Amino acid sequence: MNILLVEDEQGVANFIKKGLEEEHYAVDHAINGEEGRTLAMTRQYDLLILDIMLPGINGIDLCRQVREHGIQSPVLMLTAKDSVKDKVTGLNSGADDYMTKPFSFEEFLARVHALLRRKQDKLTELTYHDLLVDTISHRVFVSGQEVTLRPKEYAILIYLLKNRGKAISRAQMLADIWGYDFNPNTNFVDVHIKSLREKLGQFSSSAIIQSVRGVGYMIDGR
Ligand code: CA
Repeated sequence: MNILLVEDEQGVANFIKKGLEEEHYAVDHAINGEEGRTLAMTRQYDLLILDIMLPGINGIDLCRQVREHGIQSPVLMLTAKDSVKDKVTGLNSGADDYMTKPFSFEEFLARVHALLRRKQDKLTELTYHDLLVDTISHRVFVSGQEVTLRPKEYAILIYLLKNRGKAISRAQMLADIWGYDFNPNTNFVDVHIKSLREKLGQFSSSAIIQSVRGVGYMIDGR
């Protein structure tokens, strides 16, 4: 689970980052809104934690911008101000929850868990690092940029995503995706994987589909 924390107060940031890392979350910390925006729009996060009072772009504007960019990760807002107006503005900008500083780490962690659970309940989305697949509309996004796939490329991607961590043979993909017995010597799978990699690779910083020598292909389980 990757979490982005945008917080300019070093003490608060250290407290949150250290606590979350002890719970085995990976935390990227940005100290201002601009840096936070760049990270949010170029990497895939399971949760965004945004302080409202930030130098430059504040947390509310940042939340609005990431939502306008199509990023649907849950957002937890932090503020020192306990005002109803801030809370309403924060939630209207697309935040999912809100906490007033100072808070106990136990309460904070409970909110984080609740937001991450809610995200996992959304089974219509498959995500992997900077890749997001909406399985209802069949739209595929890499780093927030839409990628247009042919039906078989889409089917291969979904197949590998749903079988993360397992090496899938060409014969298995032919049988399960093409649905009937092709000549096992056909290079259909390799041709589609090559084109899929090229399309995803335009916007992805890392290789999404790995080759498994002597077997076939996989998307790793990390
Ligand atoms: Ca602040």
